[in-house]
Amino acid sequence: MKKILVANRGEIALRVMKSVKEMGIKTAAVYSEADRDAPHVKYADEAVLLGAAPSSESYLRADKIIDACKELEVDAIHPGYGFLSESADFAHEVEQAGLIFIGPSSQSIRVMGDKLSAKEAVKKYDIPLVPGTEGAVEDVDEAIRISKEIGFPVLIKASAGGGGKGMRVVEKEEEVEEQMKMAIHEAQSSFGDGSVFIEKYVTSPRHIEVQILADKHGNIVHLFERECSVQRRHQKVIEEAPSVILTPEIREQMGKTAVDVARSCNYIGAGTVEFILDENKNFYFLEMNTRLQVEHPVTELITGFDLVKEQVKIARGEKLSFAQEDLEIRGHSIEVRVYAENPFENFLPDIGKLQVYERPHGPGVRVDDGMEAGMDIPIYYDPMISKLITYGKNREEARIRMIRACEDYRIVGLQTTLPFGKYVMEHPRFIEGDFDTHFVKKHFEPEAMKQEMPHEKEVAALLVAHLLESEKGKSAVETGTSSQVSAWKRNRV
Ligand code: ADP
Ligand code: ADP
Ligand code: MG
Repeated sequence: MKKILVANRGEIALRVMKSVKEMGIKTAAVYSEADRDAPHVKYADEAVLLGAAPSSESYLRADKIIDACKELEVDAIHPGYGFLSESADFAHEVEQAGLIFIGPSSQSIRVMGDKLSAKEAVKKYDIPLVPGTEGAVEDVDEAIRISKEIGFPVLIKASAGGGGKGMRVVEKEEEVEEQMKMAIHEAQSSFGDGSVFIEKYVTSPRHIEVQILADKHGNIVHLFERECSVQRRHQKVIEEAPSVILTPEIREQMGKTAVDVARSCNYIGAGTVEFILDENKNFYFLEMNTRLQVEHPVTELITGFDLVKEQVKIARGEKLSFAQEDLEIRGHSIEVRVYAENPFENFLPDIGKLQVYERPHGPGVRVDDGMEAGMDIPIYYDPMISKLITYGKNREEARIRMIRACEDYRIVGLQTTLPFGKYVMEHPRFIEGDFDTHFVKKHFEPEAMKQEMPHEKEVAALLVAHLLESEKGKSAVETGTSSQVSAWKRNRV
């Protein structure tokens, strides 16, 4: 494998390229018109323009991406997460084009990409499932009957859903009809597939997932769990590894179950098996994500493995160089997803320019990002600015570091989830490890967070200093960058 094209943008494109580079492999980027000056484009050895800003005209254009691979004589494609990473059709087209897809087979993606077919596939193993319907539900009367049988509250879920979208909690019988219609409509418009099913709504769950790696020779291992219970809109904001709640026995059971889930779909590569854990520490299989996960760095830090390198080695046909017994958890890691969102206003997406952007540094701090000072957050894509990750010899050290890192991280120009990250780190429930997926609803008080914010005067002073600085160096920087880029980039429309 001599050249890998990363079919993604932002932090994940950069993060993948860094490992690929360390392996002595050349990198190729793709980009949209909105990302002409993006760091991932500058970082790659070569780059190809896909099209206009909307992802449907750029990052989702499988045909253009495959053409780019042919033109640049690329051997393999890394899809990152989001975009085409979980498209079985894309993986299939890549295979057909004689390229290597760094991920599982299109068949495994197809099975696991649909929550209902995933449940069907794991049946041959003894995998605990949340009580619910086996197939899609279309009829309202049937939905009511089933919901009563399972017992309210229930969750209506889009089988093709992802990213926390396409889920509706139904508290009582009278709401079933309306919620179901909305869920079907939403599933159809967001995922192009209106199939929905019903699941028991676990009232106080923790989201715990297991990282697995499987090679092409039948070896499958798990790299322990990640706790991802701090969420808003059913989507994770804070993750950590390991989870404080698991005993070694449950950890082993969950790990073994995750390996079985992977085996049930002949999985190859890095994947994540998601579970929810109820109040009595019973765990149930939720879904499998057939790609690298946003929060994979916390696993890298506690296991010492570079998951992207492992993905590449597996794609090259190499055997895993370690067995389950060789793996152990060392220390603790926490991640805060830094979104351009306003935690004071119910996490409403915020737009604007990164007027000041200064990363935190120092022992045990990792920042995975794809942004630079002066950049606008494009409105077309996911509003995640970066991932702030800390490592410590134990949870307390990782937690204190995260507080320090949130304080050291300077972002002026838009609202971010950083103050929320700090708030959570300092919350007694988080410190004690006593929380579930409703942390935000139950314990988050934006008012309390306000007093913790950096002094307004300080922010204003930073802004003024920055404006003065950027005026000074403006022209030199701008011409420098663009000529440099055009000299070593090949643009294609
Ligand atoms: P993770 O599952 O890696 O923990 P997210 O749920 O936030 O993280 O998903 C990662 C990215 O992939 C987000 O940009 C999200 O919007 C996108 N995504 C995940 N699943 C789907 C899907 N089925 N359809 C569209 N986008 C998805
Ligand atoms: P997605 O594909 O959007 O990631 P998941 O099935 O993984 O969908 O669920 C996302 C989140 O929704 C979970 O982390 C959890 O917080 C919540 N959730 C999902 N299923 C249930 C359930 N049956 N009961 C309670 N919460 C659930
Ligand atoms: Mg999920």
